[in-house]
Amino acid sequence: MYARNRVKKVIENLKRKLELEEGRTFYRCHSAPDHVRVTIEEAAGMNFQCPICKAPLWPEDEKVRETLKRIIDKLESMEKS
Ligand SMILES: [Zn+2]
Repeated sequence: MYARNRVKKVIENLKRKLELEEGRTFYRCHSAPDHVRVTIEEAAGMNFQCPICKAPLWPEDEKVRETLKRIIDKLESMEKS
């Protein structure tokens, strides 16, 4: 029970971190990063498409968030088992 609560707490902390990361992630043009650098709200307004060359906009620090998500998934499956 104690261990389970600890895992839960860790998951909560990681989720908060992930939210923070997502909130301050900038999006860049996938084909030419110099084209645009915008916040997620602005990127959404552009349908996640570069206004200059129409390439998709990609989050700058996708790897950080992917890693966080993977850790959270793993912990959550541990918690449920
Ligand atoms: Zn572009």
